Amino acid sequence: MISADLKEQYYEALVAKDSEYEGLFYVGVRTTGVFCRPTCPARKPKFENCEFYETAQQALLASYRPCQRCRPLSHPNQVSDVVRILVEAVEKNPEKRWKGQDFKALSIDESTARRQFKKRFGMTFVEYARARRMGLALKNIRSGRTVIDSQLSTGYESSSGFRDAFSRIMGAAPTQVDEGHILKASWIDTRLGPMMAIADEESLYLLEFVDRRGLEREVERLRKRTKSAIVPGTTAPIQSIERELNEYFQGIRTAFDTPLFCLGTPFQKRVWDELLAIPAGETRSYQEIANALGKPTACRAVAQANGANQLAIVIPCHRVINASGELGGYGGGLTRKNWLLTHEKQGQEQDSYE
Ligand SMILES: [Zn+2]
Repeated sequence: MISADLKEQYYEALVAKDSEYEGLFYVGVRTTGVFCRPTCPARKPKFENCEFYETAQQALLASYRPCQRCRPLSHPNQVSDVVRILVEAVEKNPEKRWKGQDFKALSIDESTARRQFKKRFGMTFVEYARARRMGLALKNIRSGRTVIDSQLSTGYESSSGFRDAFSRIMGAAPTQVDEGHILKASWIDTRLGPMMAIADEESLYLLEFVDRRGLEREVERLRKRTKSAIVPGTTAPIQSIERELNEYFQGIRTAFDTPLFCLGTPFQKRVWDELLAIPAGETRSYQEIANALGKPTACRAVAQANGANQLAIVIPCHRVINASGELGGYGGGLTRKNWLLTHEKQGQEQDSYE
């Protein structure tokens, strides 16, 4: 997260239209829902209506759309047609999931689009479209807007108010919502970026970084397997995990007590139990986990189960690394994995001095 000092510095740069800050930050304007580059010619918003982001992707995930005037997704002096056409196409239909044929319809070469976006904005076009889509889906969750009980009692299916961007993008509720099982979804800000938590009144079902690739499919799968409707809101397990995450990031907690609901195969559940047994500050290799399960040849299956974990940080899949000592993979990105491991190691070292 950006410090208060830096926010003031960015705001000064914004008011001064300081071109030296181009690419260093973007500003989301709460009152209009757009995000701008520092040099935007439009009237400058008040400080309290600004949210600052270091990447365009973060601004998109926070549900801002690109400003029409300063076009934060175009290079200042060199607007590529490919980029312009694609950004406009996304704005026309921001909920769309892009496929190969969509590029053909616009006579755009998919790999050119990927290359140009990556070069200019540090993300591919597909990542851009996804960030914009996810931003929309997460809008109500992020703003903490909850559904009111009278809406719930009239039934998910019959109430068109529930057919918000979240359900359109993350997958519609099954037609037979089993006894009206409802899961609630909340946005949790952490020092490693925003996370989404999904829980019912008893347990936590999902905790993931909102920029995790494949999150939409994970949520859809969860919705189908539990035959639930997922709506914005909060429950006791969500409040509990928010408090515990806060303590974890402050370095005063290493394990979590929030009740969990793990949706997986028996084998996956065994792997996740092994992960829970790795103490903070330590790591294991995929092979060591496979050995511990008595299945030394199941290394690949262990890696898959590790990747299928839907409770990031809480079930510490980040504590599993390659046998060579390299970090291996991580759904939330290797920068986060490295940060988490360093953070946990420091906590252990501090303990040993006490
Ligand atoms: Zn602007």
